[in-house]
Amino acid sequence: MSSQPRGNVIIDPEECKGCGLCVESCPPECLELAPQLSKYGVHPAQYSGEGCTGCGACFYCCPEPGAIVVERLTPPAKAASAIPLPQEVAHEATL
Ligand code: SF4
Ligand code: SF4
Repeated sequence: MSSQPRGNVIIDPEECKGCGLCVESCPPECLELAPQLSKYGVHPAQYSGEGCTGCGACFYCCPEPGAIVVERLTPPAKAASAIPLPQEVAHEATL
């Protein structure tokens, strides 16, 4: 059974300078430097396509503003179970 992705990361090769800091920072090791060169003559970072948790480590260590966008696709498991969805609250209030 495949689990739902928790995060996604988008890297703009036009902004990336290929320093590799994000690759080193990623806990699940799902970032890599592309084998091809960008138009700036560097190997830009790229997402392998799976494993991102949405932790944001890559975003915070990147020195290039706008090179990385992190999407959090699901809330953390604890918060999801502790906080009822709005429709659940409304349902309980009408009982
Ligand atoms: S930290 Fe930023 S500039 Fe460096 S490789 Fe990653 S995306 Fe590119
Ligand atoms: S958000 Fe976290 S898990 Fe996702 S690519 Fe960045 S460092 Fe890796």
